[in-house]
Amino acid sequence: MSSPHSFLDISVVYLKGIGQSRAEALQTELAIFTYKDMLTHYPFRYVDKTQFQTVREVTEESVYYQLRGQIIDIQFVGEKRTKRLTAKFKDASGIIELVWFQGAKWMAEKLKSNTEYIIYGKPTSFMGRFNMPHPDIEVVTPGLLASQSSFQSVYNSTEKLKYKNLDSEGIRKTLRALVSQLTEQNIPETLTQTIIDDFKLISKPDAYRQVHFPDSKLLLDKARYRLKFEELFFVQLKLLRSNHLRHSESVGFVFNKVGDIFNDFYTKYLPFQLTGAQKRVVKEIRVDMGSGKQMSRLVQGDVGSGKTLVALLCMLLACDNGFQSCLMAPTEILAKQHYETISNLVEPLGLKVTLLTGSTKTKARRELHSELESGEINILIGTHALIEDVVIFKNLGLVVIDEQHRFGVEQRAKMHKKNTQPPHILIMTATPIPRTLAMTLYGDLDTSVIDELPPGRKPITTMHFMESQRLRLIGFMKSEIALGRQIYMVYPLIQESEKMDFQNLQAGYDALLNDFPQPQYQISIVHGKLTSRQKEFEMQRFIKNETQIMVATTVIEVGVNIPNASVMIIESAERFGLSQLHQLRGRVGRGAEKSYCILMTSYKLGADSKLRMETMVRTNDGFEISEVDLKLRGPGDLDGTQQSGVLDLKIADLAQDGQILQLARSAAQAILNEDPVLQSPENQLLFNHLQNQHHSRHYWSKIG
Ligand code: ADP
Ligand code: MG
Repeated sequence: MSSPHSFLDISVVYLKGIGQSRAEALQTELAIFTYKDMLTHYPFRYVDKTQFQTVREVTEESVYYQLRGQIIDIQFVGEKRTKRLTAKFKDASGIIELVWFQGAKWMAEKLKSNTEYIIYGKPTSFMGRFNMPHPDIEVVTPGLLASQSSFQSVYNSTEKLKYKNLDSEGIRKTLRALVSQLTEQNIPETLTQTIIDDFKLISKPDAYRQVHFPDSKLLLDKARYRLKFEELFFVQLKLLRSNHLRHSESVGFVFNKVGDIFNDFYTKYLPFQLTGAQKRVVKEIRVDMGSGKQMSRLVQGDVGSGKTLVALLCMLLACDNGFQSCLMAPTEILAKQHYETISNLVEPLGLKVTLLTGSTKTKARRELHSELESGEINILIGTHALIEDVVIFKNLGLVVIDEQHRFGVEQRAKMHKKNTQPPHILIMTATPIPRTLAMTLYGDLDTSVIDELPPGRKPITTMHFMESQRLRLIGFMKSEIALGRQIYMVYPLIQESEKMDFQNLQAGYDALLNDFPQPQYQISIVHGKLTSRQKEFEMQRFIKNETQIMVATTVIEVGVNIPNASVMIIESAERFGLSQLHQLRGRVGRGAEKSYCILMTSYKLGADSKLRMETMVRTNDGFEISEVDLKLRGPGDLDGTQQSGVLDLKIADLAQDGQILQLARSAAQAILNEDPVLQSPENQLLFNHLQNQHHSRHYWSKIG
């Protein structure tokens, strides 16, 4: 469809009202180069021109209001850095102040008194009065209210574009001109007739028309549905196709033997019965590794679901089949912990397990390298250090990557090169991710879910305390310590200011020393300024139960396993994201004791922080939490999404469009089942579209 001279590829320079200078601004500001880019600069919302609230109804912060009235009293206030533009907005019910901190000068020129405006924005309250910073603002044009459609599109713009008269209104005008040129010929269909019929989709040109200039709510919904479906469909088609290609083309080591090592361990040394979910996942992995294809499998499981044991069993299978394996963890503490757990477990089997991290000494390293190359080492555990080129295996068969989101795609690729043919790869995620996101982020991997916790886990009770309840907190800590329990106390790590973090932590620690005097109480402290030896020393004291409280920054976030620690206190909990809070909470509840997580926050919480605390108190279910997280933050801020194509979605929203995604994925799957390489005449259309997407300018600009 996008042959070089197609309509969609025409430069926006040729659009009515867009000359060289505006075209350049569109390119640099919004990456809009072509007609297609322009058409896919979708409205970010629609104004229903018939629905208004009144100034008097403004009673809440951070909620959008749409008001209709006049502007009076426009003036600049403040000096230099605090200089801002204010205006009073008046309707029949009252007056609210509008404020502009940026673009004030331009706004001042544009605003007219005694003109009817529609404004839209989120109020904030200051000294008990509401004002509305940076509202969207638009003149009520006569006739507009009477026009048949009450929905008007609103577009993202930038300060620079506004100066060139390409604010939302300007962009809408430009699009009006462009949309009027659309025909069935210059906007060829991208989906097959079968899909269009099956899902009752409207045509592509209609979808473009209606999404920008809806004739009715119904048609707008249909347009958005069509465009979202198409977008998600092609993402899924691409992922599923590459998964299919991997299955059909890749060659992998065959682990077909379940030998003595695995059997011995399983029958004699397994410390507990596997959960049903662990068994199922191990089986899925075994099938993969025996298939003759290279495995790329993702294991998702909530904190504490027992991923380590699953990984170990798979590594034992590698041993049985004459291969080495390695396990990579994101931090040194975690690598060390894995090393200890695993070497203890396999001790009776006579396997050689070795640890390699950044602080492994040169001499030990040399020895390790030669033992690795001779095949003496069966299992290597470590950090990023494993990836280095000097680390050469005799015969690496399986790579386990724990807590995947901290490793990039390139690092995964580097592990592929550690043997003559790529080893099997098992990725274990730290936190559950929403299904929609998983399908898109890891849509090209096979996935397993450990959806069951080991038996006997008592649910963790989570409480939210305000600063005023600190005395109660200290009393609670003392009573838990008296019962023989240990306590984590975690401080947030704010990247911008390491110094401040440290001060916070240190102040907290000092206060704690007052409340918990030595020698009756002992406190460990771990933070980024310590050397890894010092950290290790402090960790060990806590592990050996010589200290009752562990004060730490988030270094303990992932993986650490100390069953006797049954209380997790999170300071300034409002500064943490939901998945982090859930991870931290997962550090407790690992032993037989009743466990607690206490979220400490200041008095004043924003709506989002409140929702995060409430969610944590309400549920222990990682999947549920990840859904809320996605809704709050959008996919852009979630771990791992930065390197994926998720962020290129222009209209679909993974937090909202799960159902459409599911349909689109099934549709893509059904097509590939029938026609795996997309060679039927009907599917040519789809094949070409995939190829074109691949070579689009966006793609290249990203590589560059
Ligand atoms: P995660 O999935 O968070 O990495 P771990 O592998 O660290 O979880 O396991 C958490 C804890 O549960 C460990 O103490 C581990 O020994 C224990 N565990 C794992 N599997 C089982 C099981 N089937 N029954 C009982 N305890 C188990
Ligand atoms: Mg783990």
